[in-house]
Amino acid sequence: MPTLAKAYIAASADSPLQPGVIERRDPGDFEVLIGIRFTGICHSDIHTARGDWASVRYPVVVGHEIAGIVEAVGAKVTRFAVGDCVGVGCFVDSCRECASCRAGEEQYCLRGAISTYNSIGRDGVPTAGGYSTSIVVDENYAVRIPEGIPLEAAAPLLCAGITMYSPLRNWGVGPGTRVAIVGMGGLGHMGVKFAAALGAEVSVLSQSLKKEEDARRLGAHSYHATSDPATFDILAGSFDLIVNTVSAPIDLDKYLSLLALDGTMVLVGLPTEPLSQRAYSLAGFRRSLAGSKMGGIRQTQEMLDFCAAHGIGAEVEIIAAEGINEAYERVLVSDVRYRFVIDANTY
Ligand code: NAP
Ligand code: ZN
Ligand code: ZN
Repeated sequence: MPTLAKAYIAASADSPLQPGVIERRDPGDFEVLIGIRFTGICHSDIHTARGDWASVRYPVVVGHEIAGIVEAVGAKVTRFAVGDCVGVGCFVDSCRECASCRAGEEQYCLRGAISTYNSIGRDGVPTAGGYSTSIVVDENYAVRIPEGIPLEAAAPLLCAGITMYSPLRNWGVGPGTRVAIVGMGGLGHMGVKFAAALGAEVSVLSQSLKKEEDARRLGAHSYHATSDPATFDILAGSFDLIVNTVSAPIDLDKYLSLLALDGTMVLVGLPTEPLSQRAYSLAGFRRSLAGSKMGGIRQTQEMLDFCAAHGIGAEVEIIAAEGINEAYERVLVSDVRYRFVIDANTY
């Protein structure tokens, strides 16, 4: 008998999310049934629910920052037991055979990872995400949430956290690295915490000065408003790595001018509109422009263990499910400190 789960559902790109009920299959041999406790609101949920990106299969249940407790396990599950605290991020399966999957970079599966929502699962049924009271996933696509990280602070780590941790690690950030985080929202604030914990010299580039005190509390050493044109003169050539989290198009040439010789700007923000830049912005100082998407299961577990070791969690504002639509409006005007998290008891 499938389980019925309460959920918040987007029926179309222009309708507000509404409460409803969905079915969750019984866990298969290698699957776990997770009772969701908290789910973060990622800007990607909004892009998807509102149809900003390519095809969306409506009705859709979004949400891929899931923290919960294992409530049932399939007969052959070995990694988890009932009562364990677990997380699920942006994907729930992948081919497991291609070079990316074998390298533990399942998010780059060459056959296409199965996203937590808006994909077709192995069972042929559209996947439904974390704005709900339960989810069933293969044990290999869930991660353990270490003791000491409260579940509400853990949920956003499953997307915002790993999306920032991954490029910082992959580009070798450590003591002496001059890192700038552009945009201090859900992703950006985690970037500040991780870069500081890795020992880097961290700057925040935000639209205004409003978040300066918070940024310094989270570990930033300097903070600049991008609305002030002088910022781009003062900071010219001063960063080894810029991680751009902005969800809207920005003037890439201006930001590339802030990179030092051999510096790299990594794009993680995913605006709908195409971006462009002059070749000389790169060639002039042997700079690189790169992109990065989430992180694999192994690195996600490493990130969670790093968080436990360094006392890191997301800064959250817990909301009831009925507040989701209002929270979306606040995210869209950068009025979030710094992640909304839905309390699953309130569906
Ligand atoms: P968010 O909480 O809304 O943060 C984005 C931040 O960007 C805002 O807080 C704001 O920071 C800044 N910003 C917004 N509009 C801007 C504008 N017009 N000009 C300049 N700055 C602006 O969103 P998020 O959840 O962190 O997600 C950010 C982006 O990353 C989204 O596009 C999302 O889809 C994408 N994403 C990508 C991945 C990946 O794997 N690559 C994973 C998750 C999310 P300030 O107020 O500080 O300026
Ligand atoms: Zn996300
Ligand atoms: Zn694969």
